[in-house]
Amino acid sequence: MERKHYLYQHHTWPELRERVKDQPVVILPIGSVEDHGRHLPLDTDNFLIWSMCEAAAQKAPGEILLLPQIPFGFETHHMDFPGTIDIHMEHLLHFVLDVTKSVAHHGFRHILIADGHGSNMPILDLVARRTILETEATCGCFIWPSLAPDLINKLRESPVPGGMAHACELETSVYLHVDGARVQMDKAVKDMNLPPSQFIWLDLMKGSPVLYMDHWTRFSRSGVVGDPTVATAEKGKRIFEAVVDALVALVREFRARPRRERENLH
Ligand SMILES: [Zn+2]
Repeated sequence: MERKHYLYQHHTWPELRERVKDQPVVILPIGSVEDHGRHLPLDTDNFLIWSMCEAAAQKAPGEILLLPQIPFGFETHHMDFPGTIDIHMEHLLHFVLDVTKSVAHHGFRHILIADGHGSNMPILDLVARRTILETEATCGCFIWPSLAPDLINKLRESPVPGGMAHACELETSVYLHVDGARVQMDKAVKDMNLPPSQFIWLDLMKGSPVLYMDHWTRFSRSGVVGDPTVATAEKGKRIFEAVVDALVALVREFRARPRRERENLH
């Protein structure tokens, strides 16, 4: 196997010390091992975010260093589904922060946390803030659908809100594109059974006014929230490519982002 220039852990320590001089953006992918309906594997979040990060790193040689992925996320509300691995929210916060602080300790100044699992986001937001407040580095986090909202909303056929939440049109389409052989479309079902509400729903592309998360089997017995039956590989290809292009643009902007000195105004 060849060494890959964009993989953090394919460098020796003297090589890594050299890479600090160029200040590439260090990307930490994180996903989950979690139920994704009866039609998608447990690795959906991990596989999609890793594939997107790797494609971006290949498109922008020298600009990205990709850390090993953290494969587990915050899942307590999914534990009624066999196979799901749950990391306690406070453990996850400290674990991810230890990773970003290590990277900052070695001199890297631009860190992005790339997320594939929605429920990691409130925790990763705190990690990114603490990384900025407690180190010399700057740090941001995102979940991949947020990088290509215009295209996703244009291609979308499932109802708004609720059609794109989990193991849905969006995740299923992208999985069909990256490895359709692992998707069992004959087992895909539409499942949109949250109580009707003006204030509380689940949708990756349109957050609800009230944040609320219950144990998942109270509103989905399939593990789906949304409509994966309208997913296609063609939509997935266009979405995947748009996210990868946006990630490369984000990396370039983030790396060049001006940052003034702090000033104590007391
Ligand atoms: Zn997912």
